[in-house]
Amino acid sequence: MTGGSPEVVVGLDVGTSAVKALALALDGRVHASHEVAYPLSMPHPGWAEQDPEDWWRATEEALAAVSDSAKVLGLGLSGQMHGLVALDSADRVIRPAILWNDQRTSAECEEIATRVGERELIALTGNRALTGFTAPKLLWMRRHEPEAYARITRVMLPKDYVRMRLCGEHATDVADASGTLLLDVAARSWSGHLLEALEIESGWLPRLLECPQPSGTTPDGVTVAAGAGDQAAGALGVGVVRPGPLSLVLGTSGVVLVALDTFRADGEGRVQAFCHAAPDAWLAMGVMLSAGGALAWLREAIAPAMPFDALTAEAESWEPGAGGLTFLPYLAGERTPHDNPHARGALTGLSLHHDRGALVRAVLEGVACGLRDCADLVLALDAAPPRIARPSGGGARSALWLAIVAAALELPIERPAIEEGAAFGAALLGGVAAGVWRDVDEAVAAAVRMREVIEPNPAWVLRYRELQERFRALYPATLTRP
Ligand code: ADP
Repeated sequence: MTGGSPEVVVGLDVGTSAVKALALALDGRVHASHEVAYPLSMPHPGWAEQDPEDWWRATEEALAAVSDSAKVLGLGLSGQMHGLVALDSADRVIRPAILWNDQRTSAECEEIATRVGERELIALTGNRALTGFTAPKLLWMRRHEPEAYARITRVMLPKDYVRMRLCGEHATDVADASGTLLLDVAARSWSGHLLEALEIESGWLPRLLECPQPSGTTPDGVTVAAGAGDQAAGALGVGVVRPGPLSLVLGTSGVVLVALDTFRADGEGRVQAFCHAAPDAWLAMGVMLSAGGALAWLREAIAPAMPFDALTAEAESWEPGAGGLTFLPYLAGERTPHDNPHARGALTGLSLHHDRGALVRAVLEGVACGLRDCADLVLALDAAPPRIARPSGGGARSALWLAIVAAALELPIERPAIEEGAAFGAALLGGVAAGVWRDVDEAVAAAVRMREVIEPNPAWVLRYRELQERFRALYPATLTRP
């Protein structure tokens, strides 16, 4: 303590709907947190853009709110991945940032697969060319906005733009850079081969750092860590940075993520592989497009005013299997295990005795089956099977949903004491950069705490093995011919 002000490390998460700043005491307790929202612009169907100036205004406000009565030792950045911020020679933003959830680049993704070769792309980047990634956005600008493209002298990811405003540095970290499709993920360096194949200037790219490395200093003298993309920072925030535990995100989308000690990619690119937040760690993850989003959809359809807690309480009265109902959660297409934007949801086995609680139960269980499918693919890459799963995201507030997921995954679920996601992981990186902790492992040991374990119910495990078979068999039947 100095002058009565508590010492804190601050994490900043530049999200899609808001910036969140989180000040942590050095034992991991939350000292203060503050969120400032900003708009998302959708100028055409499938497009998603934001004004980087909005991120910066929100950052200034959020940082001021959490640093007010504290001594900030270090600051870490995290944020939405994949977004393209294009800057001119005076570091001015050339056009609104094109975000991760923008769908305009399918032609450019095909072009990348052709120029590089699909297998080679997966072997180098750990991923297929997905519409949300950064490189296809650059190719889109080259084709559709050639005058703007000709003015580019730098490209940045969203949180890295905030860094530039915060401390004048052009830098990024290997975890966030993994989502550009320009990184050699195994070598943790920009890929000369990809840059050449896609005819992208290497001089446009920011300096590449490991996540806990210092990237610069604020005008107030606070060290700013390189930071990490939100998936890596979120996993770090629940202590998943080494092989062992599995991170489970039950947000609008669902994520099953493991840390790896070497780079490994799924040959068909069904799993995404990125650099992780420790310098010798990688991550692999399966992504479900509608997890919590499926429950939100059902609520909107049948009980718009009801709190989620009341809705899940109705599902408690149904046994596992929801009286023969099976729900496929592919409401917005799927990413893992079926990489199919045209996949669609289903609800089968309906009868007169089913009520609203049964529908809710079927949705919770269908999402759990989808997570199991993701886990099986992710774990096929990992030599050491995990012994526990650590949940985060809005759905992790439901004890029933966690019990269902524990049985479907056949893994105990360990609930973190604080579920602040990516901002928490970013704060830990800020602390390491500032020398508060020696490395991310020490930061996790000092600050990440667990509160309870939900064991899989053995009777439910058996029921969910049957359900999983029914769930898998149903998908092919839902595929409609074009
Ligand atoms: P996002 O992923 O959009 O950032 P969240 O992590 O907050 O958002 O997740 C939102 C989802 O969490 C909701 O759509 C809902 O499915 C789920 N959720 C939130 N609260 C509860 C609850 N009490 N019980 C069950 N599910 C919940």
